[in-house]
Amino acid sequence: MNSFAVIVVGAGPVGLALSALLHQAGIAVALVEPQPLRRLPDVHDLRTVALTKASLAVLAELPLDWSLWRHVDYRQVRVEDADASSPLLFDAEQMGVASLGRLVENAVLQCALQNCVDALALPQYEQRLSASGIAAGQRWLDLSDGTRLQADLVVACDGAHSPLRQQLGIELWQHDYAQSALVACVQHSGDARVQAWQRFERGYPLALLPLSPLTGGPSSNLVWSLPRPRAEALLALSEAAFIDHLAPQLPAVYGRLLSVSARALYPLQARHARTYCAERAVLVGDAAHVIHPLAGQGLNLGFADVRVLVQELLRLRDRGLSLADPLGLRRYERRRRPENQRMQQAMPWIQGLFAPEGPTGALLKGAGLAWLSRHAGLRHWLGRQALGT
Ligand SMILES: Cc1cc2nc3c(=O)[nH]c(=O)nc-3n(C[C@H](O)[C@H](O)[C@H](O)COP(=O)(O)OP(=O)(O)OC[C@H]3O[C@@H](n4cnc5c(N)ncnc54)[C@H](O)[C@@H]3O)c2cc1C
Repeated sequence: MNSFAVIVVGAGPVGLALSALLHQAGIAVALVEPQPLRRLPDVHDLRTVALTKASLAVLAELPLDWSLWRHVDYRQVRVEDADASSPLLFDAEQMGVASLGRLVENAVLQCALQNCVDALALPQYEQRLSASGIAAGQRWLDLSDGTRLQADLVVACDGAHSPLRQQLGIELWQHDYAQSALVACVQHSGDARVQAWQRFERGYPLALLPLSPLTGGPSSNLVWSLPRPRAEALLALSEAAFIDHLAPQLPAVYGRLLSVSARALYPLQARHARTYCAERAVLVGDAAHVIHPLAGQGLNLGFADVRVLVQELLRLRDRGLSLADPLGLRRYERRRRPENQRMQQAMPWIQGLFAPEGPTGALLKGAGLAWLSRHAGLRHWLGRQALGT
């Protein structure tokens, strides 16, 4: 039976970054993933993530050459309510930074990180985890081809539905927003390359994030969170009818809508594991917490988990303690849970801010947003929170 210090289950962006960092730190780590993403898709991925400076700092520890991978460093974010009367503008120049963050298609990021992991030549098993348990002071994992592995510590990076979390018997707090995010790629005649834009229509965010062009003109990633029946109705429309619905919602800077790609829906739910730790096991990223995408922070929280878990595991190693030391794993949870929880709790508040019928929205609709938009100091503070600096 193959034995490792740490086994990471799941090669999404979080599991890939974690396993590469642990390997670089000299920890014997293996990665389990049934579908590693090695080929860069030649169409835009329907999901784009906005990485903060803090996440980019985590990734900067890895041999990831960004010049090889499609991305956009964006310099402005414009957030407005339905009548666009008092937009909030976050501007990199005014905030004294070169950019507000990096927009990268989820599949491109995954592929870039998979290339790093391949280059580092750490052991990988292209199988699905099927069972897990404890024997002889180790955690064992059974894979779908019958292989059995064992490790001092197993890390669940296997996403929102985490099969490992379920096998560990860790319960979840869950909230269904009764919304879905409709995602697509939109080609338009106007060039809004440096600006990310988000409008709240009765509290429901509609966002366009600039994409690195593939062929043809400028394009953006659309993320439109809507009550589920409306999202399903928009998904079922023809391309032309969908464009007729979308076009009037967009500001003039996007010009004419030329085409819309295939569309997809993500049902929106918030989840938080009741605990991040079990015997010789720990949860990271979406396996531990899932938040509404309106603030674009889910993966950023996952990378912050990675940074802290690596610190805690190296601390244990340097003290000669087991990597599965329960107190060490609890320290990781204590350092991460409050921020993850705060961000999760902020989502309904932000949404209420822009919903005229919501309690906070009623207050802010008239004067508050305008006031906020005039107060550069507070605006910059909010911007810094979003940047993760
Ligand atoms: C529409 C939308 C927009 C978003 N925008 C942003 C944004 O702008 N910024 C941001 O920070 N976040 C954003 N997010 C959130 C972000 O996409 C997630 O937080 C992130 O992808 C989670 O990464 P992960 O590696 O934890 O999990 P995942 O990416 O879900 O990876 C889990 C991996 O585990 C593997 N796996 C599953 N089961 C098994 C098994 N049995 N055995 C082995 N492996 C297994 C899967 O194959 C997968 O590769 C957005 C989310 C959505 C839906």
